[in-house]
Amino acid sequence: MQSITILGATGSIGQSTLDVISQHPDRYRVFALSGFNNLDLLAQQTIRFQPTLVVVPDEVSRIKFLKMLGNDTIPEVLIGVDGLVQISKDPAVDTVMAAIVGAAGMLPTLEAIRSNKKVLLANKESLVAAGKLMMEKLRNSSSILLPVDSEHNAIFQCLPDDYDFKSKDQGIESILLTASGGPFRDFTTEELQQVTPEQACDHPNWNMGKKISVDSATLMNKGLELIEACWLFDVRPSDIEVVIHPQSIIHSMVRYADGSVLAQLGSPDMKTPISYSLSWPSRHGSGAKPLDFKTLTSLTFDTPDETKFPCLKLAKEAFNAGGNAGALLNAANEVSVESFLRNEIAFLDIPRINEQVLNDLECTELNSIDDVINSDFMARQFAKDRISQLRRY
Ligand code: NAD
Ligand code: MG
Repeated sequence: MQSITILGATGSIGQSTLDVISQHPDRYRVFALSGFNNLDLLAQQTIRFQPTLVVVPDEVSRIKFLKMLGNDTIPEVLIGVDGLVQISKDPAVDTVMAAIVGAAGMLPTLEAIRSNKKVLLANKESLVAAGKLMMEKLRNSSSILLPVDSEHNAIFQCLPDDYDFKSKDQGIESILLTASGGPFRDFTTEELQQVTPEQACDHPNWNMGKKISVDSATLMNKGLELIEACWLFDVRPSDIEVVIHPQSIIHSMVRYADGSVLAQLGSPDMKTPISYSLSWPSRHGSGAKPLDFKTLTSLTFDTPDETKFPCLKLAKEAFNAGGNAGALLNAANEVSVESFLRNEIAFLDIPRINEQVLNDLECTELNSIDDVINSDFMARQFAKDRISQLRRY
């Protein structure tokens, strides 16, 4: 029986995780859940899965949440970041699903690694902001980090078990990171200028949270994933080829020296990578629809347009710059996406703000979590200033 904490249980990944878990009641027990702004759903999940601990953002939410539970079994309710850290390190937990969106997930995810848990990583922003420190902590612990992001989960499945990129014997040439290209792949720059938050959140293949949907539309998601792949698989941006594949059937590939390319295919449903990360190294049912080759008409491929979608290029520059550049870019992007979702800036302002933050703020060394937190704070302030200047004109 694996005892599981789900950070961000009310989100898209959190809900899919509970869906997979509910299909295997003999294998998994929900130990703790966290939610932030959808207390109704968190209460329903609590009544159904009976966790020992639940985390809500603050005292006001705790009072509201307890009222919602009625007289059913009452869990212990913790609050804020301290609560998130507690449910990530509790000795009763084996596995932590890191599914909070944004850098807000960083501290509990780091704590889960430090506490030697099996960590299922969906929260790519933590790795982008603090990859160096997170991978150092991983090497110094007995924690196992398994990628949930569909592309990284696919790459993980296509690599040898004793993977070592630098080993000549393994003959790995490159990683092929696939991207749907988002809903605006074929838009002109003029059309991109008019894009609304509703259009950006309406992804053609995947049903996801708002932030990642906008990131997919700007290709920032692929940029964040490129940095994520660099940290997870110990490679550089030049070892990764980004391939646009609009149908999202191939979830990524690995190219080998003998000419072979290994790919992982499946319906575009996060339950598959979530299921594999839970059951690894074995497999079990996920509830995802099986791929039906009779109805698959065509699989097409293209190269990304980094002039029209500069966020991908920015991510490569950030990783190559090193230090705090990933933290700066990630924080800038979180602020610009939130501002776009509030209709304060245009779609094309997102890459502009991100680029200004990356170019104008000093790139410094990252030696501690405080360095990450300070860089994140500085970039957010700078991005907010730029946004208020834009709105004044
Ligand atoms: P979502 O917006 O649907 O859910 C986010 C979760 O985080 C919610 O439970 C929310 O309550 C919680 N949360 C938000 N802000 C918080 C804060 N400040 N403190 C604590 N909790 C907070 O997002 P999602 O689509 O489920 O994505 C979650 C993570 O997984 C993201 O990092 C995303 O990039 C990654 N991911 C998602 C998908 C997908 O298909 N949805 C695929 C790959 C990777
Ligand atoms: Mg992905």
